[in-house]
Amino acid sequence: MSSRTIGNHRFSMQSCRIYGKQLTNECYEKQEQMKEKCVSGGCQCGALRYKVVGPLGSTDLCHCRMCQKAFGSFGAVLTRVPFANFKWTRGKPATFQSSAHVARGFCASCGTPMFMFEDGDDFIDLATGTLDDPGIVKSLSHQIGIESKVIWFEQLHSLPHQTTAETRNPGDLPRLASFQHPDHDTAHWPPAKT
Ligand SMILES: [Zn+2]
Ligand SMILES: [Zn+2]
Repeated sequence: MSSRTIGNHRFSMQSCRIYGKQLTNECYEKQEQMKEKCVSGGCQCGALRYKVVGPLGSTDLCHCRMCQKAFGSFGAVLTRVPFANFKWTRGKPATFQSSAHVARGFCASCGTPMFMFEDGDDFIDLATGTLDDPGIVKSLSHQIGIESKVIWFEQLHSLPHQTTAETRNPGDLPRLASFQHPDHDTAHWPPAKT
């Protein structure tokens, strides 16, 4: 497997693809020092990309009315990350000040909710679904804001389970081809037209 040398360490191209070409030497060096991996993520359109060095913190489900509105959903699943370990690697988010001390970040191009940040906190609450691999979060810690929980939330586990292919005609699927940014860092996006 080919490799790339950064500092005095050689990274396999597999590592470079996972950790991304946008990452700085500092990230790799810090990763090497901490013996920990970088985690990447971004918005749906690819205008925003980020990385996290080191382990993710706890993940909670917030049912509060503001998370419902900000995510257009039953609530928000948010993963806590030390702010010092977080960096935007492409673009800057737009923000909405949802209360005196809380800002919510989103992509101004595609609208993806990205994070919640409270003044003075040492951490940022990332929208878990924006991780390139949300499955690295193995479990949730708490449900909070339950005074606003929608009544149908408790029905979710008992609903019929269907794949996309089961709910769409085969002829529909080509029309539904994804324009979404892939779940890894890219040097350029969107790709140049050939
Ligand atoms: Zn976007
Ligand atoms: Zn909330």
